Amino acid sequence: MKIKAIFLGVVLLGIFNWVSGQNKPNIVIIISDDHAYQAIGAYGSVYGKTPQIDRIANQGAIFKNAFVNNSICGPSRATLLTGKYSHKNGFKDNETSQFDFSQDLFVKQLQKVGYNTAWVGKIHLGEKLQGFNYYDILVGQGTYFNPEFISKQGRKHTEGYVSDIVTEKAINWLDTIDSDRPFCLVIGHKATHRTWMPDPKDFGTYDSVNFTLPPTFYDDYQSRQAASLQEMSIDKNMKMGYDLKMFKSLEDMMEDGNFKRMNQAQKDRYVAYYRPIYEKLKQDNLTGKRLAEWKFKRYMIDYLNTAQSMDRNIGRVLDYLDQKSLSENTIVIYLSDQGFYMGEHGWFDKCWMYEESFRTPMVMRYPALLHPQSTIEAKVVNADIAPTLLELASVKQPKDMQGKSFVHVLKNNKEEHRKDLFYHYFENGEHAVSPHFGVRDDRYKLIRYYKRVENWELFDLEKDPNERHNVYKDPVYKSVVSRMKKKLASQMREFDDKEAEAIYKVNIDR
Ligand code: CA
Repeated sequence: MKIKAIFLGVVLLGIFNWVSGQNKPNIVIIISDDHAYQAIGAYGSVYGKTPQIDRIANQGAIFKNAFVNNSICGPSRATLLTGKYSHKNGFKDNETSQFDFSQDLFVKQLQKVGYNTAWVGKIHLGEKLQGFNYYDILVGQGTYFNPEFISKQGRKHTEGYVSDIVTEKAINWLDTIDSDRPFCLVIGHKATHRTWMPDPKDFGTYDSVNFTLPPTFYDDYQSRQAASLQEMSIDKNMKMGYDLKMFKSLEDMMEDGNFKRMNQAQKDRYVAYYRPIYEKLKQDNLTGKRLAEWKFKRYMIDYLNTAQSMDRNIGRVLDYLDQKSLSENTIVIYLSDQGFYMGEHGWFDKCWMYEESFRTPMVMRYPALLHPQSTIEAKVVNADIAPTLLELASVKQPKDMQGKSFVHVLKNNKEEHRKDLFYHYFENGEHAVSPHFGVRDDRYKLIRYYKRVENWELFDLEKDPNERHNVYKDPVYKSVVSRMKKKLASQMREFDDKEAEAIYKVNIDR
């Protein structure tokens, strides 16, 4: 009798899951790599044409204050999957960390309630994935041309341009799955990561644009010691060959790994576009500021051209959802793994708790909940995405997940979410950015640097939105410093960041 009752219970639970599964929303997350909000139309970019990302914002919501916990590629994706900060999910930096897929991930929770889950494209967290029914991922960083992929079937070379191939694979997977089950698909783009290699069909789109230099392009970094020591300057650190495709000879160009792997037709298109630019540069013999500004312009062009293919491919996914009548019941999120510098402070790259890299673009469409053209000002962090998706799928948030669901903000975009934001950047390597952690509220930002540089910075974002004046030692801000330190202490406790707490205790007054 008892066994029969248990059996009946299991059957009923199965039927319940099956029935409720059909009502659950599908999820598509499109995550790019290093795509700056300054380069996106919906965020007011003067130059960047991103009609498809803008389409998601127009049909749903744009997040004006979406932030990351740790502004670098792998750690950001680890946080997306776990809903935890780096010191809790173990993936603190790209250089030394190994991602532990055996820990709880939001996709594992979704699988338990019947979701079909997949990651296609760039993940860069190792090759032995868990939590995904299907995956077909780029090997490591991935390459723009003729990339290698790894799936459960093994390694495979695919001829073509990465943004097209990743999208093709994602759509092919959607075509194969059981339409009775909800799905969660993550599409990881290689674009717009260094070395910004566009699809040749996009060459020329921005060539005649007269890009204005950001007001901080010639930043002197006074009062910011860590910023003065970095190695991410467009002028000083961007490479003429590797980054800007200006090689001294055709032979040198073809020796570079990115070109070596191209087929002849791809090589021909690149040679035809870049060699005349190189010849002109040689003739013009630019130096000093004129050369720095030439580099800035070429960087902008290559970057925006690379984004163009990704945006076009995002459109293919949206069109597919429309054609299959899936748009109504599918949550679509587009975000970058962090923000990026488009010449602000003279930089490319990311890492910092300064606004351009701390903030990330994020737009979301979900007709069941979000009104078209919604603007969300509430501060959210990437760790909040996993618990939000679980709530939307009616799954209880696991206790150790640190993010907080922002579903209440989707229902009412006037609501606040986080008062203060906590940040911790751990890597101490390429680009020479000192590890740091800090706290930001609506007006102030307090940062503590350690290891490479040992000091504090305080910014008044209302008076100094470009973060040029560190006012930590200014007596006028004495009470602000002490208030922000209390906020920092409370954030470190909330996120249980013992490493930051230990550094803070020793250096509180220094
Ligand atoms: Ca990145």
